[in-house]
Amino acid sequence: EGMTVVELAKKTGVSIRYLQEIIINVGEKADSEFVPLSIDTAELVAMEVGVNVKRLHSDEGAVLQPRPAVVTVMGHVDHGKTSLLDVLRKTSVAAKEAGGITQHLGAFVVEMTSGASITFLDTPGHAAFSAMRARGAAVTDIVVLVVAADDGVMPQTLEAMSHAQSAKVPIVVAINKCDKPSADPERIRIQLGSEGLHLEDLGGDVQVVEVSAKTKHGLDKLEEALLLQAELMDLKARIDGPSQAYVVEARLDRGRGPLATAIVKSGTLLCGQYIVVGSEWGRIRSIRDMLGRETTSGRPAMPVEIEGLKGLPMAGDDVVVVASEERARMLSSGRKKKLEKDRLLKASEGRIEIDDTSDETSTSSRVELPIVVKADVQGTVQAVTDALKSLNSSQVFVNVLHVGVGSISQSDVDLAQACGACIVGFSIRSPPSSITLAATQANIKIFLHRVIYHLLEEIGNYIVEKAPGMV
Ligand code: GDP
Repeated sequence: EGMTVVELAKKTGVSIRYLQEIIINVGEKADSEFVPLSIDTAELVAMEVGVNVKRLHSDEGAVLQPRPAVVTVMGHVDHGKTSLLDVLRKTSVAAKEAGGITQHLGAFVVEMTSGASITFLDTPGHAAFSAMRARGAAVTDIVVLVVAADDGVMPQTLEAMSHAQSAKVPIVVAINKCDKPSADPERIRIQLGSEGLHLEDLGGDVQVVEVSAKTKHGLDKLEEALLLQAELMDLKARIDGPSQAYVVEARLDRGRGPLATAIVKSGTLLCGQYIVVGSEWGRIRSIRDMLGRETTSGRPAMPVEIEGLKGLPMAGDDVVVVASEERARMLSSGRKKKLEKDRLLKASEGRIEIDDTSDETSTSSRVELPIVVKADVQGTVQAVTDALKSLNSSQVFVNVLHVGVGSISQSDVDLAQACGACIVGFSIRSPPSSITLAATQANIKIFLHRVIYHLLEEIGNYIVEKAPGMV
């Protein structure tokens, strides 16, 4: 905020006159190059000239209040991330109020007897975390690193560690499956220690808790450890003033339209405000808490469901409050244009990359696998897409043509048929028999899965089937 045209010209290397022209085009006055532009105008102008801008939210001088920690669960596949989240969710406020029934909404809040609370992001795994970070969404305060006591430190354990460390997010280790006879928590401690994690038992500052998602043993200890870590971090946020938030999940509701679960980072989100979320915009029609109750505002670290967006945002998108509908539309369309430009640029880079890295014979032997991805929620769509792309190699090119939230539709089948693609459905119900029939007739394979690992295995087999000569 507070950048003048002169400063903007310096930053972007574009002439003042040209900048002023753009400013007039976006409907602003360009009287003086020394008067600071509004942050929205600065963003619009920067987008026009192809420069990336980041909104810095200064909390200088604002009153800060303590806020709960936001926690993400990470770890190797099958070490119990989902199970742990399931049992934690059952102890959440929502589950208590609703008699144990809970919905997957992207986040939930666990309230301790002391009155303190912890917000958990309800999407396990690294893809979601990386996708959020890639969008600059530093939502997570603490990472719970899950390691199975009967298995030990595995590649994705190390990956999770490096994700957390590079994001400077402290880790609390949960050694899971301690109920198993073959559990050997000591061994895990030694392994983690030798990977450079400074465990508290050995004089470091990383807490370790032994748990079992199956018997629920140690869950209270884990929650205490998280509270302690949060206390050490002295997490605070501005309560008053315009809000900034991040989307953790988005879904389409038949009656209510696009719904986004967002976690407020600072300020207070209010009903009726105009917002821009990623490249979408809207006016907040209602705000609901995790119990589905309508509230009038969302406060820091509180997951809320926002209704009133015109389109479906993506996990990691930022929510910014703007002054008017016109401003919201303008920013949204500006961002959409920029996204499209970036996408085209990436697509052409992708081409070049493939051509560069392969000589003629290997180009022709590279198997292209066009895929349409459908999943239950936006967070999963991303996780699945990222996971599928991890199959890319010098021999395989996974080409994700289209992604979407919801069940497999006729138009998905049409697209798949047109492109010779297969369809991946993740955490969604089987399509109606008419769709299945249409797919079969068009010779389109549909893969339905609920576990990434199983999906990758089957797609791997499918690739081998399609290209028998390949290793
Ligand atoms: P994720 O891939 O990390 O999300 O792992 P899951 O939560 O899907 O768990 C993988 C498998 O381990 C499942 O069969 C779970 O039932 C099992 N599991 C998870 N936690 C525990 C535990 O504490 N004890 C035992 N015995 N099994 C567990």
